[in-house]
Amino acid sequence: MQIDNRVTGKTRLIGVMGNPIEHSISPQLHNTISKHLGIDLVYVPLKVEKSDLENAVKGLKALNFVGFNVTIPYKKEVMKFLDDNTKEALLMGAVNTVKNIDGRFYGYNTDAEGFSRSFKEETGVGFKGKKVLIIGAGGVARAISVKIALEGAKKIFIVNRTLSKAEEISELINNNVVNVAHCLYSEDDSVSSIFEESDVVINTTSAGMHPNEDVLPLEQPIKFSTNQIIYDVIYNPAKTKFLLEAEVSGCKTVNGLGMLFYQGIYAYEIWTGVKIPDEMKKELFKSFKDILQK
Ligand code: NAP
Repeated sequence: MQIDNRVTGKTRLIGVMGNPIEHSISPQLHNTISKHLGIDLVYVPLKVEKSDLENAVKGLKALNFVGFNVTIPYKKEVMKFLDDNTKEALLMGAVNTVKNIDGRFYGYNTDAEGFSRSFKEETGVGFKGKKVLIIGAGGVARAISVKIALEGAKKIFIVNRTLSKAEEISELINNNVVNVAHCLYSEDDSVSSIFEESDVVINTTSAGMHPNEDVLPLEQPIKFSTNQIIYDVIYNPAKTKFLLEAEVSGCKTVNGLGMLFYQGIYAYEIWTGVKIPDEMKKELFKSFKDILQK
């Protein structure tokens, strides 16, 4: 019988903590990277109940994990159990990646960096000087808005059906990053004209996500402009109704697959200090899309 040498006494551990966790494809992504780079790490799913979160974090420290990802519903709550969080993660109010540095746990947010890398890779442009409209004001909207402000957008409009949440994010940006943010109620009359004039529109709501594929993020009628970039953080389905309508109007469209992929790439780089070669990233992204779109 052939001996399986993939895991030995020297193998170090990383993982993803959340609940549910069964749907996650992060184990496949990270274990493929380690295998191809010849790095002796194994990435495992870590399903944790809410009442056990603090003990689970302590347990990973006791077991000397290299680090771990954090996913729904613990991205905010985990922060109080860590030794420190980056300034960006504090502003974004969420941590999705933790690194063990000499026995201390540090929290990072790679979702926003993943979004930013995906946007630049897939559109060829950045946010400097751009007018950006963000639909939604949840966790993803907060992280992305902070990132876009840090990257030099000229104006950021945050539109949400619950105005108070959009207000909170725009105040956070104006008071802590740069004074470029405005908030709007999604039924406000001015939304359609601001939408039309924006260079980039990003849907960060879950409207249109499987199984509610008929839903649009804005109920009022809107008109796309052909030179706009329309980004939807949803990746299931690969093309939401919103993206399909934008595509028909001649806009450049991007879905959330790249964000998911690049947040993982950045996390891996944080844990290992290894820069993943561009050629490998390209191939990996292709295979990643294939397994997610099956
Ligand atoms: P969240 O904190 O729960 O926020 C959800 C947002 O969507 C809120 O602004 C909510 O409005 C709005 N919303 C929900 N249903 C709506 C509807 N029918 N019409 C209009 N607005 C609606 O969620 P989140 O963590 O930010 O996640 C948002 C989306 O991002 C999800 O679809 C998630 O799958 C996706 N995501 C993608 C990635 C990626 O890597 N691509 C990573 C993380 C999350 P109210 O404030 O009024 O309730």
